[in-house]
Amino acid sequence: MTLDLATFAKDRGIKYFMISYTDLFGGQRAKLVPAEAIADMQKDGAGFAGFATWLDLTPAHPDLFALPDASSVIQLPWKKDVAWVAADCVMEDQPVEQAPRVMLKRLIAEAAKEGLRVKTGVEPEFFLISADGSKISDEFDTAEKPCYDQQAVMRRYDVIAEICDYMLELGWKPYQNDHEDANGQFEMNWEYDDALQTADKHSFFKFMVKSVAEKHGLRATFMPKPFKGLTGNGCHAHISVWDLDGKTNAFADKEMPFGLSAKGKTFLGGIMKHASALAAVTNPTVNSYKRINAPRTISGATWAPNTVTWTGNNRTHMVRVPGPGRFELRLPDGAVNPYLLQAIIIAAGLNGVRANADPGRHYDIDMYKEGHTVTDAPRLPLNLLDALREYDKDEELKAALGQSFSSAYLKLKHQEWNAYASHFTEWERQTTLDI
Ligand code: ADP
Ligand code: MG
Ligand code: MG
Ligand code: MG
Ligand code: MG
Repeated sequence: MTLDLATFAKDRGIKYFMISYTDLFGGQRAKLVPAEAIADMQKDGAGFAGFATWLDLTPAHPDLFALPDASSVIQLPWKKDVAWVAADCVMEDQPVEQAPRVMLKRLIAEAAKEGLRVKTGVEPEFFLISADGSKISDEFDTAEKPCYDQQAVMRRYDVIAEICDYMLELGWKPYQNDHEDANGQFEMNWEYDDALQTADKHSFFKFMVKSVAEKHGLRATFMPKPFKGLTGNGCHAHISVWDLDGKTNAFADKEMPFGLSAKGKTFLGGIMKHASALAAVTNPTVNSYKRINAPRTISGATWAPNTVTWTGNNRTHMVRVPGPGRFELRLPDGAVNPYLLQAIIIAAGLNGVRANADPGRHYDIDMYKEGHTVTDAPRLPLNLLDALREYDKDEELKAALGQSFSSAYLKLKHQEWNAYASHFTEWERQTTLDI
């Protein structure tokens, strides 16, 4: 039965609902709707001018309606007057095909037709920086190897524990928080869930981390490479596929190498096959390619891949199989759209299952040291333009994500690339002035 949001408001003392949808660039767009008006909005949706957000709509399009999915509602733990609810975009009573949450739901339904239910966990790393965005907020956080720094994590205890308390309150089952590999960088982990739930939690997590950081006079950034020379913000995804009742992990087979079943291997085969193209979504910004193709960082490793390879429990490859029944895609970064991340994993994986794809040989080497010895695996795209071109070439993946999404995404992202390419930089003056 659908939860009645007006009753929910009454029971919980909620004054406003934030009806929120995510556009193609991952921006969260919302209308703040008083509880008095929520009954109608739950039926008809909240109205938006779609052109004003990144969905590739024109000013002449009719109203875009964001229809709240009541099952996703969350009372803000730090502002109990307000509740956030994820919404699906509709126009003239039809789903907007390129809207990320709509796409994800379609792909989940397609996987279900094959008897598959995808469950994932994400690790969205972030930095706590000064409010003006110019530097790391903790001036004492300067160690060469700051990962798991006990003293530094305790200097940010008030922020980290507040966020973790909220996750506990929301029943997300968080289980660890740490200082990550870059100065000023943190990671918080909670339990995996169905792909749509993980995407909603991922979106809400970003909103929550930013909000709590602001409350403490700081700023949180998920930018892929906010500081040159420091490890960037990854957003690894751990992936498993279950039967429809969610009880049997179809990826687990203890008899197989790394505990990954034959079906799991074909799903992985799809990810490997489409990797260069899917980078256009998992690494969606100009800045993303400063993380995956980075030189060694101060800590000694970038922890990001640059080649399409997989292996067992070894963090130097694009895909790691940490243990039976799941694999970790280490490619995505902090700029990834939470819904598109899940959608493209399912699209590529499903394609692999249908085609009985082979992930190819696994390399059990230190890729950071011995990567040059691998000659038969593609290098990941060097920049956003290469990734967009790879995506454009991949007809299977484009079709799986839908033509309306693919053309809208390519158009908007090419515009972004062109804006970047025409940006005049100091580097070119320095290297070209005396030519
Ligand atoms: P690491 O840093 O070693 O990659 P983390 O503990 O930071 O690992 O994150 C692991 C993520 O994987 C968490 O979100 C966790 O819930 C998730 N996870 C664990 N088991 C599974 C599984 N079977 N399927 C999908 N995700 C899983
Ligand atoms: Mg108006
Ligand atoms: Mg982790
Ligand atoms: Mg990490
Ligand atoms: Mg990881």
